[in-house]
Amino acid sequence: MISYQINPEMLIRYWVLLIIVPLAVGFFILATIACLTILNHLRHSRRERNAAKQAYREDHDALGQRLPPTARGFCTQCETLTKKAFFLPDGTHLCEECYDQKFPPRLS
Ligand SMILES: [Zn+2]
Repeated sequence: MISYQINPEMLIRYWVLLIIVPLAVGFFILATIACLTILNHLRHSRRERNAAKQAYREDHDALGQRLPPTARGFCTQCETLTKKAFFLPDGTHLCEECYDQKFPPRLS
């Protein structure tokens, strides 16, 4: 006759397999998701900050003065076609070089 005895060592092994291992795997998965979320948030916020800095640099000179609007256009002073022409309020269009000559403090 076969008798089933409860072996304490086997009980401990089943307990480890059924409870500890799934808990550890679940914790590992949650920790991985949390780390990825934090890294993604940091990367996104850094990218947004850099884009804001870049936009500010394009719209302002080194002294913080706001630059006039720019577009592709024809420089009225040196009469060349340029990708970035400054449209001044008085109606003239200046390329970057002519704008730098006319308004020297602009360094960027
Ligand atoms: Zn010019």
